[in-house]
Amino acid sequence: MGPAYVCEICLGPLEAVYDLEALRGPELRARIEAGPRTFWRYADLLPVAHDPTVDLAAGFTPLLPAPRLGEALGLRRLYLKNDAVNPTWSFKDRSVGIGMAAARRFGFEVLACASTGNLANSVAAHAAHAGMRACVFVPAGIERGKIVASAVYGPTVVEVDGDYDAVNRLCAQIGEEHNWAFLNVNLRPFYGEGGKTLAFEVAEQLGWRAPDAVVVPIASGNLLGKIHRGFQELAGVGLISEARTRMHGAQPKGCSPVATAFQEGTDRIRPVRPATIAHSLAIGAPADGRYALAAARATGGRIETAAEEEIVEGIDLLARTEGIFTEAAGGVTVTVLQALARSGAIGPDDLTVAYITGMGLKTQEALDGALPATVRIAPTLRAFEEAMLAAAT
Ligand SMILES: *Cc1c(COP(=O)(O)O)cnc(C)c1O
Repeated sequence: MGPAYVCEICLGPLEAVYDLEALRGPELRARIEAGPRTFWRYADLLPVAHDPTVDLAAGFTPLLPAPRLGEALGLRRLYLKNDAVNPTWSFKDRSVGIGMAAARRFGFEVLACASTGNLANSVAAHAAHAGMRACVFVPAGIERGKIVASAVYGPTVVEVDGDYDAVNRLCAQIGEEHNWAFLNVNLRPFYGEGGKTLAFEVAEQLGWRAPDAVVVPIASGNLLGKIHRGFQELAGVGLISEARTRMHGAQPKGCSPVATAFQEGTDRIRPVRPATIAHSLAIGAPADGRYALAAARATGGRIETAAEEEIVEGIDLLARTEGIFTEAAGGVTVTVLQALARSGAIGPDDLTVAYITGMGLKTQEALDGALPATVRIAPTLRAFEEAMLAAAT
């Protein structure tokens, strides 16, 4: 017997629920504020207890004011949630941290996942830390940095000839034959809760209030739906006054099934074949797309896209204005933030948070040919002066 992860009646996904009424009151806030400086400070609102033997201490990442990017976009109250500084440099460490604690509880011996790269990195690292075996599956052709950032921890890395959706189907089949912990398949009800902590932290870092608007990148749609749920739960336990944050979503144009459904005003998300440099967002059949769609619609948010050349411009703009080097997914987020500011969907005085979910050194290919050449000189003062003179003219 393994963990339950689908409803036996309707075959829909299972969701964790909490007794929010029982958690209301000042003790909860005191417990959180006295807790560890990781996402485990929100243990009361998580589905499994903290297990220090499998914990890489993810979360509690900086919420940075972004005045220079804000000035470029005409936003006076812009913040960046920099989740690129997690243990394996993406927000996936939150989800995997929770999934790992569940995997231990259920007694699994092998950790596995279907991943576009970042999840594989996080599973491989957590497995190494816990002294467990890992086998991670990715589509062939993802960035070299993402392969390296899995392989270094010693898992079996399986590159599958096919896109993410093919990898996911294969993993479902393997899961029927082998009793492995697939973090984002049979442990999904646990794993999926990690995204909520990105709402909890932002609200706490803003002095226990929710922003007016957020921008969240969408791959499977899990993260956006869970950030929305996180704000709702905080309101439910009385830690913020009400959850009225507009949930905006960002997809690359080359893989935008949720944005398309949003624009067409339909609930039906038609699968697409991904064609984008934002590999971490390249999920053509997003499992939780309908939750992301519903969250955007219910809150007055929008779901917009970034064209391929705009992704690189977004990476560049963020790096040059705020000193944060994000991966292609972050380029999508910044580009969509810009579009939302231009169209007035986000107003100049809206308290706005953009979620930066992964780091740039893993996706260096995205910048091929886009950066200025270095200045190479002989080791003499004269050569330096000449080069500076040439550069100035
Ligand atoms: C996985 C991932 C996302 C999107 O997450 P979903 O929950 O699948 O929508 C966004 N950004 C980065 C960097 C990711 O790795």
